[in-house]
Amino acid sequence: MSTHETDVVIVGAGPVGLFAVFELGLLGLKTHLVDILDRPGGQCAELYPEKPIYDIPGIPICTGQELTDRLMEQIKPFDPVFHLQEMAEKLEKLPDERWRLTTDQGVVIDARVVVIAAGGGSFVPKKPHLDGLETYEDTSVFYAVRKIDAFRGKRVVIAGGGDSALDWALNLQPVAERVTLVHHRDGFRAAPASVQRMRQLVDAGEMDFKIAQLAGLEGADGKLQSVKTKSKEEGEGAVPADALLPFFGLTMKLGPIAEFGLNFEENLIPVDTEKFETSTPSIFAIGDINIYPGKLKLILSGFHEGALMAQAAFAYCRPGERLRFQYTTSSSELQKKLGVR
Ligand SMILES: Cc1cc2nc3c(=O)[nH]c(=O)nc-3n(C[C@H](O)[C@H](O)[C@H](O)COP(=O)(O)OP(=O)(O)OC[C@H]3O[C@@H](n4cnc5c(N)ncnc54)[C@H](O)[C@@H]3O)c2cc1C
Repeated sequence: MSTHETDVVIVGAGPVGLFAVFELGLLGLKTHLVDILDRPGGQCAELYPEKPIYDIPGIPICTGQELTDRLMEQIKPFDPVFHLQEMAEKLEKLPDERWRLTTDQGVVIDARVVVIAAGGGSFVPKKPHLDGLETYEDTSVFYAVRKIDAFRGKRVVIAGGGDSALDWALNLQPVAERVTLVHHRDGFRAAPASVQRMRQLVDAGEMDFKIAQLAGLEGADGKLQSVKTKSKEEGEGAVPADALLPFFGLTMKLGPIAEFGLNFEENLIPVDTEKFETSTPSIFAIGDINIYPGKLKLILSGFHEGALMAQAAFAYCRPGERLRFQYTTSSSELQKKLGVR
């Protein structure tokens, strides 16, 4: 178990959580971010990476991924620490007024201020409907790859036809004993280059592709022996397997933040519009997760909320210190923090 100490811990590395790092950084506050996804960007990166956004001030057009990349570039000087593929699971108050956030991976982050930037909730995998699935989860069935080496020398079945399924089939193929991609049709949503590479490997006999649906799991005590399949053409079949990785997309659920002891109004967190603080002092909520009169679920609204939240967070993190209002254009102090002076 590793323990970190920081000024502010941010739950959610979507566009609003990322820009909060910038606003907090300008005030000299250090940040850690936790996100269940394997990369930053939230909805922009996960739901519409290639779609154009037209209403970011000063950027007439950029895609969801481009916005994420630009935000990552902008916050670089502040060196935020990312805890990706981790669910923020538990929040408790410490005797010294700080908060302790624990992730599902056992990482502990102690911070004076908590910022909930959890959007529509945490992204969770869509699961296949297979009898006994839960008895194999985390031992033989996985919805994400945390360590490639865990699959070394194993017979791996990957199910799905999107980028995650294809990317992991290609990445695990060199280390696994055998990779079998199972998809219900001979057409894919993944990048054409990945599909082409997969077909080359199949033609060369270095991996397998089966057009079928998942039908069941065979094994004992959480240890998988084979994945049962069915298809119109071939009927029922079975692929010998030590591990199954279903990549059927993600859905958003409020998740563990519902247990953080905060007030909720229909799965949203009410905040004031001066500081975007929740009814619990030193816990703030910004972006799509909050609610207040007139709220618009837009990225630019979340950016504004982050700027005001940072001012209030400073008062908790640096009690007694005066905060001077400064412009980045003219303040040499801010320019030093940004590394441009
Ligand atoms: C198709 C589409 C098009 C859109 N187009 C526009 C547009 O043109 N302009 C615009 O302004 N807005 C647009 N939006 C809305 C915009 O994407 C959202 O307003 C924005 O993403 C909200 O940002 P956020 O950071 O608050 O939340 P999100 O982007 O939802 O990010 C929240 C992050 O928190 C993580 N998280 C939540 N709970 C936990 C937990 N317990 N542990 C770990 N991680 C957690 C999630 O995994 C997620 O990555 C669009 C949305 C969609 C779906």
